[in-house]
This record gives sequence, structure tokens and C-alpha cells, in this order.
Amino acid sequence: MISEKHSIRPLKLNDFIGQEEVKKQLKVFIEACKIQGKTLDHTILSGPPGLGKTTLATIIASELGTNIKITSAPVLEKKGDLVGLLTSLKEGDILFIDEIHRLTPTLEEILYSAMEDFKVDVVVGGGSNRKARSAKAIRLDINKFTLIGATTRIGMLSTPLISRFGIILNLDFYDEKSLKEIILRSGKILNINITEEGALEIAKHSKGTPRIANKLLKRVYDYAVIHKKDVIDRETAFDALRFLSIGKDGIDGLSLKYLKSLVYQFNCGPVGLNTISFAISEDKRTIEEVIEPYLLKLGFIKRTAKGRVALPTAVEYLENYENT
Ligand code: ADP
Repeated sequence: MISEKHSIRPLKLNDFIGQEEVKKQLKVFIEACKIQGKTLDHTILSGPPGLGKTTLATIIASELGTNIKITSAPVLEKKGDLVGLLTSLKEGDILFIDEIHRLTPTLEEILYSAMEDFKVDVVVGGGSNRKARSAKAIRLDINKFTLIGATTRIGMLSTPLISRFGIILNLDFYDEKSLKEIILRSGKILNINITEEGALEIAKHSKGTPRIANKLLKRVYDYAVIHKKDVIDRETAFDALRFLSIGKDGIDGLSLKYLKSLVYQFNCGPVGLNTISFAISEDKRTIEEVIEPYLLKLGFIKRTAKGRVALPTAVEYLENYENT
């Protein structure tokens, strides 16, 4: 049985596999903070979903021995939500805001003085009527904190916001070797018996993404249990992934739908985002943030001024796919 007792989310930098460049830099920044007894500069973690941005933020907190409060821009609706969070932070705490590119301009403005001067402007008194004479705007001091913002769309951050971050780290898709290590590590924690070759087979189908690798490991394990295999070797992993309809290179149903539309319906493009979004009935954000980054990395598509274009490798992939 899968044991969920221990989380597969790494808690220390040394357990975080891959992203060597990012880890190397973070180690230095964290050590420097510890030696100088200062708070870490505000940090941006950017990269496609599931690559470990939240995990890294919690690791930074644990390495620094500080608390972390985790929130996400879409759930911060009112000024009070953000001000409440900022004023509750203790010295050195970390505030993690996921999808920070989705903050409203009003909330973004609150962050400017909070990040730079550690102050927030609040209106007190006047009851519900802000215009009442007794209402007063005051500047509150807040404790020195570190803001860690995660984003899948760094290009969407405004210049005033991005300029207030001292550290910007970009996470890239993982190579197969790192994903294999992640799968072997998760297997150990979850009590799943898997060989190196089995793990490599799953890694090849994981779209360079640890979240997908861990999810596939669990689904392959389900398959292995049903087929009474007590170890996931290459053959079992291969059969299970076929059963799950996960194509080579990790092309899943959603990516396949997108590619087929781009290649067959729109003659390889160029086609605009709105048009393809309508054609495959998928949200534009899902297309830009979930489907396209990996296809760009594989060299299957290109984004041009005129729209999306499918490259010959994508056509070849589809032809092979249809023939197997
Ligand atoms: P993001 O915030 O970028 O969407 P998460 O931090 O939530 O991604 O990571 C998704 C999952 O993948 C986590 O549950 C974590 O267990 C796993 N994971 C991510 N990066 C790594 C890594 N480098 N090593 C091991 N596991 C990882």
C-alpha cells in the first residue's frame, strides 16, 4: 500500500533534485543571510507549473529557519486581504504569493511600499464611510520580511514590481536523469518498488515536470498492483504508460488535441491564440501556461508575431503517432 505518511515534497535544498544553477545561487544567498543575520532579498521564482516553485519557497524558509505564509494572487481580492497578511508577518518571515502576475494594480501598489520601505498605508476610522471626516490615512510600519513571488509568466510583471525584486531565478524543465532521481526518491518514500529502468521510462513521459513524474509514478503503481507485479521494471512501466495513453515525450491528450488542431485544422499556422483556443475549447491561459511551454521546449511549435506555427518535428511526431 502507498504510505502517505511522509511527504514527497523535499524539505531541504540537498533533497531538491536538479536545477543545479538555481540551487547553487540560492545556497550562497541563504548562507550570506545567515552569516550577516539579515533577511533574504525579495525573490522571484519563474517557470512553468509543477517545476518546484512552491517547494523551493518552503525549502528557503526551512533553510533560513523562518515562517512562511503561502497565498496566491487570485485569492487576494480586497486591499484588506493583502494588508492583513503583511501586517501579520513577523521579522524575517516569508510571504509567498503564487501566480503573482495576476495581482490587481491596486494590490500591486500596496506591495511597492511594503517591499521597499516596509510600510503599508491603511485608512482607519470613519466606519464604512471612507469619506467621513474621522477617516484618516496612516502609514503603518511592518516587519522586515521577504516576498517570494512565483510566476509562470514573468513577462507579464510590470517594471515597477519586478524592479523591487533583488533575486530572480528561472526554473527550467528537468532532464530525464533528474526526473529519474525524483521518481526513485518518491518511490522510496511511498514504498513503491521500482527499478532504475522503470523510473527512467516514467521520466521520459513526464514532460520535464516533477509534478507529472510523481503523478505518473502513482498511476503506474496502481497498474502494477492490479497486474500483480511486485516491482515496476521497464516493461511494466512501458505497458502501464501505454494503458494510460501517455505518448512518448510526455505528449498528453491536451497537447495532442492542440497539435492536431494546429497541424491539420490550421495547416501548421500561423494561427492566433484566440482562434486556436476557440477551436479546441481550451482556456487561453491553459494554452499559454500549460500546453505551449513544453511544446516550445521540444521544438514542436514557434510563437510568431502572426500567431502559432507548427514546426516539421511536430508534423513528424503526429505522423508517427498515427502509425503506431
Ligand atoms: P510549482 O509551485 O512550480 O507549481 P511545486 O513546488 O508544487 O511546483 O512542485 C510540484 C511537485 O513536484 C511537489 O509536490 C514536489 O514534491 C515535486 N517536486 C518539484 N520539484 C522537485 C525537485 N526538484 N525534487 C523533488 N521533487 C520535486
